[in-house]
Amino acid sequence: ETWVYAFGGGTSDGDASMRNLLGGKGANLAEMAKLGLPVPPGFTISTAVCVAYYDTGRVYPATLDAQVSDALAALEGKTGKGFGDPENPLLVSVRSGARASMPGMMDTVLNLGLNEAVAAGLAGKAGDRFAYDSYRRFIQMYSNVVLGMGHDEFEHILDDYKEREGLDLDTELTADNWKQVIVRYKEAVQKELGRPFPEDPREQLWGAISAVFDSWMSDRAIIYRKLNDIPANWGTAVNVQSMVFGNLGDTSATGVAFTRDPSNGSPIFYGEYLINAQGEDVVAGIRTPAPISRERANTLGSSDAPLEEAMPPVYKQLVDVANTLERHYKDMQDIEFTVEDGTLYMLQTRNGKRTAAAAVKIAVDMVREGLITEEEALLRIDPTALDQLLHPRIPSDDENKKAGNAAYDVAFKGLPASPGAAVGRVVFDSEEAFALAAKGEDVILVRVETSPDDIKGMHAARAIVTARGGMTSHAAVVARGMGRPCVCGASDLRINTAKGEFTARGRTFKKGDMITVDGVNGRVIAGAVSLINPDLSGDFGEFMGWADKRRTLKVRANAETPLDTRTAVEFGAEGVGLCRTEHMFFDEERIPAVRTMILSNDETGRREALAKLLPMQRSDFEEIFRILGDRPATIRLLDPPLHEFLPHTDEDIAGVAKASGLSAEELRRRAADLHESNPMLGHRGCRLGITYPEIYEMQARAIFEAAVNIFKEGKLKPVPEVMIPLVATHRELDILKKLVDETAQKVFAETGVTLDYMVGTMIELPRAALAAGEIAQAAEFFSFGTNDLTQTTLGISRDDAGKFLPIYSEKGIYEKDPFVTLDQEGVGELVKIAAERGRKTRPDIKLGICGEHGGDPASVEFCHRAGLDYVSCSPYRVPIARLAAAQAAI
Ligand code: ADP
Ligand code: MG
Ligand code: MG
Repeated sequence: ETWVYAFGGGTSDGDASMRNLLGGKGANLAEMAKLGLPVPPGFTISTAVCVAYYDTGRVYPATLDAQVSDALAALEGKTGKGFGDPENPLLVSVRSGARASMPGMMDTVLNLGLNEAVAAGLAGKAGDRFAYDSYRRFIQMYSNVVLGMGHDEFEHILDDYKEREGLDLDTELTADNWKQVIVRYKEAVQKELGRPFPEDPREQLWGAISAVFDSWMSDRAIIYRKLNDIPANWGTAVNVQSMVFGNLGDTSATGVAFTRDPSNGSPIFYGEYLINAQGEDVVAGIRTPAPISRERANTLGSSDAPLEEAMPPVYKQLVDVANTLERHYKDMQDIEFTVEDGTLYMLQTRNGKRTAAAAVKIAVDMVREGLITEEEALLRIDPTALDQLLHPRIPSDDENKKAGNAAYDVAFKGLPASPGAAVGRVVFDSEEAFALAAKGEDVILVRVETSPDDIKGMHAARAIVTARGGMTSHAAVVARGMGRPCVCGASDLRINTAKGEFTARGRTFKKGDMITVDGVNGRVIAGAVSLINPDLSGDFGEFMGWADKRRTLKVRANAETPLDTRTAVEFGAEGVGLCRTEHMFFDEERIPAVRTMILSNDETGRREALAKLLPMQRSDFEEIFRILGDRPATIRLLDPPLHEFLPHTDEDIAGVAKASGLSAEELRRRAADLHESNPMLGHRGCRLGITYPEIYEMQARAIFEAAVNIFKEGKLKPVPEVMIPLVATHRELDILKKLVDETAQKVFAETGVTLDYMVGTMIELPRAALAAGEIAQAAEFFSFGTNDLTQTTLGISRDDAGKFLPIYSEKGIYEKDPFVTLDQEGVGELVKIAAERGRKTRPDIKLGICGEHGGDPASVEFCHRAGLDYVSCSPYRVPIARLAAAQAAI
């Protein structure tokens, strides 16, 4: 079996299609080398080795050692250098690379192969300062990544040394200085680990390879995988690659770039570089890098020379490479490069992470540029990412001024690393951010810089602010991926974690203070700014238009308030799929009447109370019909257990007593009567309509009177769809449909206006799904209430599931939370059965779903396959469902 694949030097064993086996980095290094781009040669140890390693309790396949030796010998041949040969040393980097990119999760070791003899040899060839600087970097990195020593320890030794020698900057250290630092480094290793720093390059190599494989199971990698749904059994590959040096002096450099702007998608070459630097220096944020293109430098007002001016031929070549890569991969690329003494080398390319706004702009631009088709553009965007575009931003200074507000109180500025805006309270610690967010607090994580250990806190925070690091720092990359606004590299920001405060431009802010982060402009503003809603036209509108052309599923929204209904229509909803009338009852003004109705002893008492509610319900529906125009609205009659409306406090009871004329004592007794031990399976849904028909009668009347009134206003023709909840047998529906029809006829007779309407039911009990054939005789539509259907099929109450579902998902019993993603094997089967039986009885029956699942892309895809007519979801998820439906249809 082949475990090792070579790349570079004119040929490659692998290519981009072998990402699963070679990891993203390895596959793309192979592909770039095949394209004839300048890639330092090397080899990739496949992900299959990682999988085998963990399957066997961390033992390598028997043939691996020989294959690595052969590959190393071949690499020596290609480079004309010898691994461990002081005369002409081959140094390598050892780099991890999984199938999915996991930024910062796995650690790279550079300059591997150095020891005392090799360093001395290298000094003779390339200069002694370079050789010993490289050697000490290697010791530092290797000790940290492979031997598990703290990074700070080495920083301390270095700082200590510099202080004693009266030196300030690293660049002031001579070769002899570095030699002395190296001695101290090695002593520290010996002291802490009880064994010397390894001198044997092969031992170093295997140490690093194992460290990469081991890091696959590190806590931070596990957390990242969990957050991003990456299975543990994918494994990582290891890339061993001959070194090129960006730290050989002023004709050398290293950098990272995006072929387009990853925060807004505009087609300008975007990136940063450092002269005379190596590898992670750019990303780590130790020195602040300079922009690559002049255009970017101008936008940023940067005073450092862009690469375009510092090294014009290299810049030109880099732009050519970028164009080649974009045309080849047909996507925006995130590239890493190094310039060794004026020669450009490519070290990595991958499809670049981007904000949702950039993703849409790039996809639309690439269609216009003829690089990709509309369908490719649609498939390229993760529907859930659209969420980022639907959320608020900060008003521009002009808008703010026009609104008559004072200018923003800008506390400090930094780099605009990830767009969007957020308001929240200052927190300095990731754990604390997580804990407060879990309690529902909006928090802003403020850090000197971030590391992979902060991921949990970054995810929990509304936005992230850092004092150090560039646009490609860890904080920036991760924040963009998560869709959190981020301001980084804020040099005025001084954080004092011990005191729980930060200062900026002479002002002090304490933990818990409210700030607003403006990720678009890189500003942090004192206090809470009120944010404004996004623009849904332009590129976004065009893109969504392509989605609408392709999808066959219709998308409706779950909405009952005018605000939600309006939002839904703005987001492209084609109607309301679920209007929950009980939400209209909780209003402070109405609740006494509702309670009186529920607690009345008899029908007369109930009817009196209902008469008070009728005009209120009618005007609710009028408003919704007015907003919807000719779009249909599915209105569900009262569903929750009466129990939920009961008065709790003495004050509540006194209020009802006053409104109803019943005594407090009597009311208490009635309330006790109505108490249920299992309300979810209790006196709710159509059971209310069966036991208290006057309630449904009032609601039906309110719906039809509202529809007639709106029709009489002219122009609009409302399409009410009256929905009976929680039906189990066709007899329930027969009785209630008759009630609704009679009410409709009465209203039409009274008003002289007859309108089209439908009566249908929710399918949310397994029995209803099975009896769908009979139920469809009365039902003109089915709406699958997949929240309840999941509860009743799985026998799990959603409200209590939190206690055990996380453990279930850990153990892989339910792969996904069944309340988020439809359980296709169970609930999905019932949906299919009901759809089939319903259609058999009534071929034109309208079918849709209205649970939370309606906005979940995987569930939308299921609904498409199951042949439903529409999905209905919360207003903010409507665009997500539109795109998911289009993707399902492509
Ligand atoms: P990550 O996955 O965190 O991006 P990489 O494996 O890409 O880690 O390594 C980080 C950086 O190290 C690269 O961007 C590059 O600058 C440097 N590097 C890696 N391999 C080499 C090499 N063979 N020669 C020179 N620099 C390298
Ligand atoms: Mg790294
Ligand atoms: Mg990299």
